[in-house]
Amino acid sequence: MPPIQLFDAASCTFTYILFDAASREAVIIDPVDQQLQRDLQVLREQGLKLVWAIETHAHADHITSAGLLAEHAGARTAAPEGCQIGTAAVQLADGQVLQFGGQQLRCLHTPGHTAGSMSFVWEADGSGGPARHVFSGDTLLIGGCGRTDFQSGSAEALYRSLTQVLFALPEDTTVWPGHDYQGRTHSTIGQEKRGNARVAGKTLQQFVDTMNQLNLPKPQRIDEAVPANLTSGLRHDAGGDALLSVRPAQGYAGDVSPQLAWAWVQAGQAVLVDVRTDAERAWVGFVPGAEPLAWKQWPGMAMNPDFDAGIQALGAGDRKLVLLCRSGVRSVAAAQRATELGLQAYNILEGFEGDPDTAAQRGRLGGWRFHGLPWRQS
Ligand code: FE
Repeated sequence: MPPIQLFDAASCTFTYILFDAASREAVIIDPVDQQLQRDLQVLREQGLKLVWAIETHAHADHITSAGLLAEHAGARTAAPEGCQIGTAAVQLADGQVLQFGGQQLRCLHTPGHTAGSMSFVWEADGSGGPARHVFSGDTLLIGGCGRTDFQSGSAEALYRSLTQVLFALPEDTTVWPGHDYQGRTHSTIGQEKRGNARVAGKTLQQFVDTMNQLNLPKPQRIDEAVPANLTSGLRHDAGGDALLSVRPAQGYAGDVSPQLAWAWVQAGQAVLVDVRTDAERAWVGFVPGAEPLAWKQWPGMAMNPDFDAGIQALGAGDRKLVLLCRSGVRSVAAAQRATELGLQAYNILEGFEGDPDTAAQRGRLGGWRFHGLPWRQS
């Protein structure tokens, strides 16, 4: 049973689904966030239960869907221990074996493209005897190899990984690369050992010189992709620094993430004010300990005549106020009003529920609840 090979045209990335025919347990390697629906469809069509979502490394050219696959398909996430993907449930070490049904996937540390990069070896039972596969990520590509000029890359390390680790595999091992830019799908260790233009017959010095002279452009999405991939692709948490700093705003003290607002409240540095209607708090849910002070009231969404007096009482003594509404719109107006009244008021971005998704459902794209902060229903 060969792996199912899937392709993301935007990044030329291959994603692989491997499964155990008897138990239908499956593994996905290097899934791409833009292809989540396609991958879930394949799993459904084949009747597969995804047990692992695995990365070969922290990618710079696309964002993984591993975190989403954990949520939607129940997969556990696993990533090489040297890649700093701290959200992965299992940190993979060289030689470690992952089980799926009766099948085994063996981890090979193959540094060079990045310091943590791994390849995965699968010896599948086939009708003609065992078939050996290696998923080589960006370590070994067909006729080439991954670049080594950023993200902890090392040409020396890559040379050793190629010549001493991957080329030590049996020659009939099928090579399934992380990318191909010319429409090729797979190769073998034997073919690459003899014909790989970058490394076949090259000395370490020749290889290092070639790699140092590539002068490749910086990957377009690296600044977005790498931070997101360090958190299994859940990009609302990408850019950890931005998350915990105040963003300047016009007419009030600033915009803060729900996470920063909660950190301030826990530290006793700010008062959390819920400016939604009484109805929203009752029906949708509320944050325990937040001060309820509606900006407008349902039905009719008329201005709350008691807002000014209420907010002045809460912000007295120059206490910092963090204002929460449904999606971060009303709380801006309320923060501006509080500022006019001489108070120190911040708007909480995304609100309690976040913006609606394409199905008009809230709570899936961001917001207080989406980020796992405390709330409950009455
Ligand atoms: Fe890569």
